[in-house]
Amino acid sequence: MTSGSNSLMWFRKGLRIHDNPALEYAAKNSTHVYPLFVIDPHYMKPDPTAFSPGSNLAGLNRIRFLLESLADLDSNLNKLGSRLLVLHGEPGEVLIRCLKEWDIKRLCFEYDTDPYYQALDAKVQSYALESGIEIFSPVSHTLFNPADIIQKNGGMPPMNCLSFSKIAGEPHWLSSSLSTTPSVIPPVGDVGNCEISQVPTVKQLGYDDTQEDEPPVFKGGESEALRRLSESTKDKKWVATFEKPNTDPSAFIKPSTTMLSPYLKFGCLSSRYFYQCIKEIEKEFKNHTSPPVSLLGQLFWRDFFYTVGFGTPNFDRMRGNKICRQIPWNNDDELLAAWRDARTGFPWIDAIMVQLRKWGWIHHLARHSVACFLTRGDLFIHWEKGRDVFERLLVDSDWAINNGNWLWLSCSAFFYQYHRIYSPITFGKKYDPTGAYIRHFLPVLKDMPTEYIYEPWTAPLSVQTKAKCIIGKDYPKPVISHETASKECKRKMAEAYDLNKKQNGIVSDEDLQNLR
Ligand code: FAD
Repeated sequence: MTSGSNSLMWFRKGLRIHDNPALEYAAKNSTHVYPLFVIDPHYMKPDPTAFSPGSNLAGLNRIRFLLESLADLDSNLNKLGSRLLVLHGEPGEVLIRCLKEWDIKRLCFEYDTDPYYQALDAKVQSYALESGIEIFSPVSHTLFNPADIIQKNGGMPPMNCLSFSKIAGEPHWLSSSLSTTPSVIPPVGDVGNCEISQVPTVKQLGYDDTQEDEPPVFKGGESEALRRLSESTKDKKWVATFEKPNTDPSAFIKPSTTMLSPYLKFGCLSSRYFYQCIKEIEKEFKNHTSPPVSLLGQLFWRDFFYTVGFGTPNFDRMRGNKICRQIPWNNDDELLAAWRDARTGFPWIDAIMVQLRKWGWIHHLARHSVACFLTRGDLFIHWEKGRDVFERLLVDSDWAINNGNWLWLSCSAFFYQYHRIYSPITFGKKYDPTGAYIRHFLPVLKDMPTEYIYEPWTAPLSVQTKAKCIIGKDYPKPVISHETASKECKRKMAEAYDLNKKQNGIVSDEDLQNLR
């Protein structure tokens, strides 16, 4: 390593200064460090034709969260004598230009397993190697290196979370101090002809945020992430006895899980630091819960999906994806739009979809409910379509986790009990018999008597009139009969499973057509 050279710290995820090995490395022995973030039109080009404000791939909630996270990163870098440089454009081109312009000798960035970054990084790395630039790209977004796990498992990713955790064991960094931040970062050097901008606002990027009627639920950034982490782990007993299946999907005043996912997604919070904090708390309790249901277990699920996503070609689609059952999903844009726009006529489903649009976050079992309803439970629509809607609306939208869970919920991979369907009527009632969640997110139903809140179409007209909500006028009639649709879904899933078994998963388009 040359002493007295220029380093470029390329931020993408990992928007933090704690537990950031790439930043730490860049800060060592450099004369100048250039901390850079590139505003990428692939994710952030406004799309006026999209079904809600935002870009084609990312809704407004997520874009705002990212920009807030960048502003916070800039402020944290300022405290260490540095600042965040923001440039706009195709990141590969921008990077190569900066490497030349700033005479960079060392390029540091967090390793990323998402296919988009794999392709981008290959391009940048090839230029850097040719130009004699040192590359430092450590794995720090996940607890483990997915490639190591795959290697330990004989070249294949493990296919369930339990075998994943057995193979993974204890992380090697468990006893190191991960909350450390560099005490100082060498100053930014001359930026030459590069047009550096401040962190933009959503408005400056061309988005209209004037339609929003409620303040955002999440505030982006490392400072907020660490504040929320300390808030979430204050009740040590809650952490030690956390059991995911016992958390309540309808809790909205005080949600029943940590809500840290957006911070983990963007790396405002290090999953390794979070892991260490949980471990420390567990030490104080003789009888704490264990993976896969414990809080630590949730981080294993995250790493599990990262590993399978990394080791499975075409993980994000049905075709060409070896672990995905081939299923003759229906193409029905009207039903898809009814689901997406909270117009299915099933209050439990519609309330969840409203929360998703407003908050950019919903509880795990709420995600189960709406994903099952869209795919194998009722509407029989392709999981890839639901995945796209989630990708756009979730603040925590994450390539590996989102695809992995849609594969799971649609019984396309990992989970095969397609006869176990979440009822859009009785599932929510178990948690919230009075329908407080529905009344909050669907105020049109706020005066519907409790006995009809999950099935308002069964209320007599006099009751609907009194509740000022006429079904079919003020709130839609159900788009399907759950009883009939779910039976039909099970029949189609059984046929598709048979065909997949007979043909060993090699099912042609024609075979799928014949099942329709
Ligand atoms: P907690 O229960 O507090 O868990 C802590 C952390 O563990 C989470 O923040 C998350 O990083 C991780 N985690 C928890 N559950 C899972 C899980 N099942 N799989 C992987 N990691 C998990 N999570 C995302 O982060 N991004 C997504 O795009 C995403 N898409 C999903 C799509 C579907 C159809 C389903 C069913 C689930 C999806 N999840 C996704 C997983 C899960 O629902 C969320 O991670 C969780 O609800 C986030 O809330 P929390 O932070 O309060 O979780």
